[in-house]
Amino acid sequence: MEKIVGGTRGRFALQTNGIFLDRLEPSLLQKLHTILVSVDGSEQVTDRERGKGVYRRAMRNVETVRGNGYSGDMVARMTVVQGTDIFENVIHLLGAGLFDHVHWQLSFSMFWKSDVTEPGLQEWLTKYNAGVSSLAHWWVDEMARTGKVPGIVPFIGIMRSLLSGAKSGLRCGSGDDFWAIMPDGRISACPVAVDFDFSVVGSIQTHTPASLPRVEVGEPCASCDILGICGGRCLFVNKSQDLLREGAYAEICGTVKHLVAELQGALPRVRALIDGGLVTAADFDYPEFNNGCEIIP
Ligand code: SF4
Repeated sequence: MEKIVGGTRGRFALQTNGIFLDRLEPSLLQKLHTILVSVDGSEQVTDRERGKGVYRRAMRNVETVRGNGYSGDMVARMTVVQGTDIFENVIHLLGAGLFDHVHWQLSFSMFWKSDVTEPGLQEWLTKYNAGVSSLAHWWVDEMARTGKVPGIVPFIGIMRSLLSGAKSGLRCGSGDDFWAIMPDGRISACPVAVDFDFSVVGSIQTHTPASLPRVEVGEPCASCDILGICGGRCLFVNKSQDLLREGAYAEICGTVKHLVAELQGALPRVRALIDGGLVTAADFDYPEFNNGCEIIP
């Protein structure tokens, strides 16, 4: 049975830890456009956060569903905790030969007031930014070498905006083209903020998507120079700044600004590769719909 939504065929995305992914029937697999699997990088890095054996089981199951005929977009969805070598772990997942794309987001726990901050965060953030720089150089070098755009989601999404000049709203789409429906019918702009008043914008009994009020990010995003590229990163964090450690918002934004600056630096080379016919602007048209990748880490 095909699902028709608003006159167009519905597209389904699954976000999973991968543990029981192999149990999905091939007939269900074929209906999925995207599968996002939570792995954080190498076996050591993934198992440290998710438990012993998780990496091998998730990777084996990804291989199984590929063998069972899944041909859609397979995304490795990393949560990056303090200490992670971003360069090594993204390269590891891309090199596994199982994923079309790799996406990551920084773990909230580094910035939350209620979590214990490990010593050395500032040093690690410096290393993280350096790793992002190395990865951006590698990404463009690979394009030049192979004529293919490696599937690093944050880079592709931001480069797409830089190439087109189009301004972006919140990349996760929360309150714009994405809502979470609660079992009682309430509609939440953000799926992780269902208990927060700012996020509950209506209900399926009283609203249609067109009649739902938009939720905009506030300061410091509203007056940020790169709002049109970043989009405000995360609605929940923007609206819950009182839950962050002092200075944490600026620390997060420091990483976003570094990432955007690296891609702005790479833009002339990417344009030259497009002009030279080695890659095309269409190679950066990802994701084709809001598939759960927030683009901004
Ligand atoms: S970089 Fe920071 S302040 Fe600027 S738009 Fe992004 S989240 Fe907001």
